[in-house]
Amino acid sequence: MGPGGTCWRGAGVTGGVRRWLSSAAPLPRLCVVGSGPAGFYTAQHILKHHGGAHVDIYEKLPVPFGLVRFGVAPDHPEVKSYGAEDNRVLGIPGENLSGVYSARAFVGWYNGLPENRDLKPDLSCETALILGHGNVALDIARILLSPLHLLRQTDITEGSLAALACSKVKRVWLVGRRGPLQVAFTIKELREMINLPGTRPVLNPADFTGLENAVKDAPRPRKRLTELMIKTALEKREEKAVEVQAGAPREWGLKFQRSPQAVLPAADGRRARGVRLALTRLEGSGDSAKAVPTGDVEELECGLVLSSIGYRSLPLDPTVPFDTQRGVIPNSSGRVEGVPGLYCSGWVKRGPTGVIITTMNDSFDTAQSVLEDLQAGVLDVATSREGFGAVESILHSRGVRPVSFSDWEKIDAAEVARGKAAGKPREKIVDPQEMLRLIGH
Ligand code: NAP
Repeated sequence: MGPGGTCWRGAGVTGGVRRWLSSAAPLPRLCVVGSGPAGFYTAQHILKHHGGAHVDIYEKLPVPFGLVRFGVAPDHPEVKSYGAEDNRVLGIPGENLSGVYSARAFVGWYNGLPENRDLKPDLSCETALILGHGNVALDIARILLSPLHLLRQTDITEGSLAALACSKVKRVWLVGRRGPLQVAFTIKELREMINLPGTRPVLNPADFTGLENAVKDAPRPRKRLTELMIKTALEKREEKAVEVQAGAPREWGLKFQRSPQAVLPAADGRRARGVRLALTRLEGSGDSAKAVPTGDVEELECGLVLSSIGYRSLPLDPTVPFDTQRGVIPNSSGRVEGVPGLYCSGWVKRGPTGVIITTMNDSFDTAQSVLEDLQAGVLDVATSREGFGAVESILHSRGVRPVSFSDWEKIDAAEVARGKAAGKPREKIVDPQEMLRLIGH
């Protein structure tokens, strides 16, 4: 924990006290590392069902809620929900050219994640290319193309709003290595994109030929999603066309069966000027279809490349087992393999998929394992532990002042007040030093 180390203590709620006290079970102290949705849901479930438990939640930043705060999109406050500390890399030449960003950094930038606050993405080009067909890719496309007055009503940071106000980006291609039947985004997000004011979807009808039949027996969500793409590709979008001619010349489109091969440098050798894509054919069908290069390539001009091909969790500590292949801690119902007393929740438990409800249920599952192990006497809670008391002494000896929950409440109030002045739900403070100054540290 650094100088901004944070700890919140949760007292047990009264619901389950009697049951636990009457069974003379020891009152355990639990420590949750990370204050994102997985941490909070796990703590909530334990406290709700074990009235005697005491939970300390630790966080490395001076503000809580992890990627509920720094997650998906500022215009989706109801679904902000995902974490993981790293992104998958494309592993192709040119990935480090200027103008190429990971979705994780870009999302962190517009959501005020301190480590990404200085990203300064170059939005001076007209065409952006997003690699990946997931919901994060759609989030980014929407933020790039949304009318500013809509973004102004959200808690998007002032700095990113100013950059987006000067953005020249008016065309966004979302490029996937597989076909329309394998897209990873969901219908709500696609519909929102199709209806985004001032923009026009560009879908190639040829990509959708014969698909109606192919999804006849597919699960309902996939069927409805495909039908929406087909309808959008085939219908005449006269109203949208009028809107575009009337001065809202923004468009976005889906490109399929194209796998990134290289980001191409501009003449200066520093900036990106496009992406070389390997055309693919699909082997197999449905979700498990594989994209195999045909040998043909295509170059697509663009000045901004965002790689949105999924997130990755990072290993925590050498003493905690980690499956580097899958980016997860090996576990069974949250019990970390080979380390009794240690549990995991969230994306580090199951991989980077799912929305807030998935994380909630998954965290409840981990909490249930903790409760079962306590009940079964598997955990050594007979000796009383100091919990945060011990950590606080260590911090004190190192001259570190932790941020408490009431400190956070002061930061929260300041952010809300600043937001109010700008007509937004909050104006996030993006500099941790400023947060610490605000609470007198
Ligand atoms: P995702 O859903 O896993 O999508 C990743 C995309 O990247 C897929 O289209 C995948 O294609 C592609 N991809 C992966 N590796 C690739 C490679 N090497 N080359 C080219 N393409 C590659 O990941 P995400 O968009 O980051 O979202 C993560 C999770 O958060 C998802 O469960 C998502 O639904 C959720 N989320 C939800 C919301 C919301 O509810 N509004 C918003 C944002 C995120 P293949 O299928 O071919 O692998």
